[in-house]
Amino acid sequence: MIGLISATAAGAAARDRLAAAWPDRTRVYEGPVADAVRRAFGECSQLVCFLATGAVVRLVAPLLSDKASDPGVVCVDEGGRFAVSLVGGHGGGANELARAVGKLLGAEPVVTTATDAVGVPGLDTLGLPVEGDVAGVSRALLDGEPVALELESSWPLPALPANVGSAVPGGGPTIRVTDRLIDIAGAGEVVLRPPSLVVGVGASKGAPVDEVLALIEGALADAGLSVASVAALATVDAKAGEPGITGAAERLGVPVRTYSADELAGVEVPNPSAAPLAAVGTPSVAEAAALVGGGELLVPKRKSVRADGAPAMATCAVVRRPGRGRLAVVGLGPGARDLLTPRAEAELRRASVLVGLDQYVDQIRDLLRPGTRILESGLGAEEERARTAVAEARKGQAVALIGSGDAGVYAMASPALAEASDDIDVVGVPGVTAALAAGAILGAPLGHDHVSISLSDLHTPWEIIERRVRAAAEADIVVTFYNPRSRGRDWQLPKALAILAEHREPTTPVGVVRNASRPDESSRVTTLAGLDPATVDMMTVVTVGNTATRNIAGRMVTPRGYRWQETAR
Ligand code: SAH
Repeated sequence: MIGLISATAAGAAARDRLAAAWPDRTRVYEGPVADAVRRAFGECSQLVCFLATGAVVRLVAPLLSDKASDPGVVCVDEGGRFAVSLVGGHGGGANELARAVGKLLGAEPVVTTATDAVGVPGLDTLGLPVEGDVAGVSRALLDGEPVALELESSWPLPALPANVGSAVPGGGPTIRVTDRLIDIAGAGEVVLRPPSLVVGVGASKGAPVDEVLALIEGALADAGLSVASVAALATVDAKAGEPGITGAAERLGVPVRTYSADELAGVEVPNPSAAPLAAVGTPSVAEAAALVGGGELLVPKRKSVRADGAPAMATCAVVRRPGRGRLAVVGLGPGARDLLTPRAEAELRRASVLVGLDQYVDQIRDLLRPGTRILESGLGAEEERARTAVAEARKGQAVALIGSGDAGVYAMASPALAEASDDIDVVGVPGVTAALAAGAILGAPLGHDHVSISLSDLHTPWEIIERRVRAAAEADIVVTFYNPRSRGRDWQLPKALAILAEHREPTTPVGVVRNASRPDESSRVTTLAGLDPATVDMMTVVTVGNTATRNIAGRMVTPRGYRWQETAR
């Protein structure tokens, strides 16, 4: 239950809004404030006080006992501008409550507990196993002390705070990324374990889990490798359900990957043998399964040792796979920061390398974590940008390749993916493309079927463009023209409009939007006959309605169908 306490009429009004929004979760405490706070503190798990922080501090101070059990307390000022998480930020849930109250009342949540306020990712939230002095290094991260990052394996790491850099003279807090067993220096050092090792495993029917596990752990230990870096066990399809293998994988907390005997037979290995060839149809299971995805063989095939001296029932081999790079193709939206999606923002922060056109890099430079390598280039160098991005990802980096609007629409995604092979991970982040940004400004021009056509004949012969414009005209489809007109390309737009005019009335609404969502945005709704092509440039999209589109109160509206049009007439 959330206890609500207020002293003044303004406070009571805000209080009543909360009570109305959360009728089952809140209880209003009336009467003298000191007494109300005391009662609520004893009876509720959380309090929202519509009082000054000073007053609340004095009232709750004598009541506090333990941060794990005390109620969380949020203060909202008289003006309803701030929702302050005062006590019990984590334990009492006051941080969350402050955010929820803030949202409801339109107040700014004020949260001062360290990790929430600074937005520092905890070392244990990076998605990699972490060992060592986590508390000490986290403290250094929070305090903004320089922290060294030593990357032994080039693994595409997520964003780290700005104070994480490459070298700290004289030693100091250090984050080491390695799959090797190392002596952790003690205070001030942590080791992140990349999932870089694959253990190939062969086992005869009925091999005990303990035997398989001891073999794997022994092989890793002898090679100086950490069990925490094992990404998967790998074996042949026929052994997919072998209890010794699945049991060992379960104990290690990793998946089992299996491959067909044919596929494994095609992998070149140092130690093939006749036994598995006869049993499962490949001269190697452990080495081949470990090597099938590429990488470096660190531990060649070795056999288990049985205490009773009986023949070994399992084999294993260890491979370090190359760090899989990550290529995020990120659409930045049309311009305005609040039309950049949270996912795009997360990918930008996750990148260690950013590739893009200089003007787009400027748009989001403040979002990158310091230390991000920026490879910008000018207009035109598109293929080169695509190649660079893919090459960096292949080196194992986390790369963000950016484009305005949606990066897949007349932009970088297709040239990049034409270059990319399956040795990198590719992630696409959609963005608000210009047609949609313009549509929202114009009204509802895209309410029925619509197409986008680029009028740039740089990469596409004009005959093809013209054929598409004609098809759209004949099919009565709403058309948005991208790249409509530049200094050297001025006859294409009038020509395209003339083709549409053969099938649509001169009064057909046409929307022109320049710099959608950018500071100098402008837009107008005109008609096919009224549009002056000279007012259109490369910062503009032009949306031409279909025969049902109407100008309604200055807005361009394309009905969902054609029946509506008849009844409206
Ligand atoms: N990937 C981009 C399109 C790149 S092609 C997207 O999805 O939006 C470049 C053309 O897009 C420009 O010539 C212009 O026609 C259009 N465009 C891009 N951003 C725009 C904006 N903010 N306002 C108006 N048109 C825009």
